[in-house]
Amino acid sequence: MSERHPETDAIRLQAPITAAREHSVPLYLTSSFRFDDYEHGRALFGEEQPGLIYSRYDNPNTDEFIAKLRALEGAEAGIATASGMAAVFSSIASLVSAGDHVVSSRAVFGSTHQIFTRILPKWNVAVDYADASDPESFVRALRPTTRVVYVETPSNPGLELIDLAWLAGITRARGIPLVVDNCFATPHLQRPLALGADLVIHSATKYIDGQGRTLGGAIVGAKALVQEARFFARHTGPALSPFNAWVLSKSLETLAVRMDRHCASAMTLARTLDGHPALEAVRYPGLPTHPQHALARTQMSQFGGIVCLDVRGGLAQCRRVVDALRMCTLSANLGDTRTIVTHPASTTHARLTEDERQRVRIGPGLLRISVGLEHPDDIIGDLTQALDGAIG
Ligand SMILES: *Cc1c(COP(=O)(O)O)cnc(C)c1O
Repeated sequence: MSERHPETDAIRLQAPITAAREHSVPLYLTSSFRFDDYEHGRALFGEEQPGLIYSRYDNPNTDEFIAKLRALEGAEAGIATASGMAAVFSSIASLVSAGDHVVSSRAVFGSTHQIFTRILPKWNVAVDYADASDPESFVRALRPTTRVVYVETPSNPGLELIDLAWLAGITRARGIPLVVDNCFATPHLQRPLALGADLVIHSATKYIDGQGRTLGGAIVGAKALVQEARFFARHTGPALSPFNAWVLSKSLETLAVRMDRHCASAMTLARTLDGHPALEAVRYPGLPTHPQHALARTQMSQFGGIVCLDVRGGLAQCRRVVDALRMCTLSANLGDTRTIVTHPASTTHARLTEDERQRVRIGPGLLRISVGLEHPDDIIGDLTQALDGAIG
């Protein structure tokens, strides 16, 4: 690890300079790389010497992106994937075999839930959920066959937190890898590996891109585990395209300044809307009313860019609010420069049963706000006029 600050590495690490002496890294649109001679090709394939072979394995753009993300997360090793879901699936699939067991936090991204409930059972891998609100439920869920403990903190969309240092103490003692989806916090706010986690996965589509342009993902962490994921990904093919890697690598250069602004505006929005008569509650880890505010203060350096609103009057009132928005976009993405409002119950989490949604506190009146980089007054103004209209 270099002695520079990680956010400087996120700007200064660069793929090897070519004869053109470029200042900004070029885009390497090449599917394969040349061998100097017979011996060179043989040695590369035999893993006797490092070097580029084929872009499903490595590419200067994906390598640069991963070098920067490793610096930010403090990770020994890493691989890039085509999407966040490719990272979720590759990390878990590389760790489990038929007959194994996975414990996961209940509140996970919608497609992650589908992997756990519909896909892994096809290969006889069982998954049990534990609840962030009852940490001991993680311990009770462990079995002798548990091979992965998987958590999302803060969770999407309910903003529940899990004490990573505490959980890592338990998984480490049993030799079970702890995998953390760090998408909501980003390494600028939270570094799970330093707290004892073994692998961090990312949907780079969100804050890492930060401008709603490309899909991407990554797995970073302990070398031996990343090696397993690398083997799985090399041969099953969820490779990140060089173009998307180029975009994401550029985006990491501005992650710190963007996150500072997302967090500041989210805090202002949460404080302003707290107590609005159209709302039952404002959920934000930075508000003292958040049940895990104390944990958020120690585990995260800031509280993130997502604010959740529980609109009074359920679905009917919620529809009035979203249909009254003038600037904020209705969309399923998050982590964009533009403020995005999502109604999880009818979109991202529509495939969960009513009971499953209730257990992760996704009611019909829940709105997820991904606070963007517009002037905070304009964000607050748009949401306030929409909420005022709902009670008027
Ligand atoms: C979006 C998201 C994913 C999936 O990422 P994609 O890039 O859309 O495949 C996984 N986890 C969380 C928390 C997410 O928000």
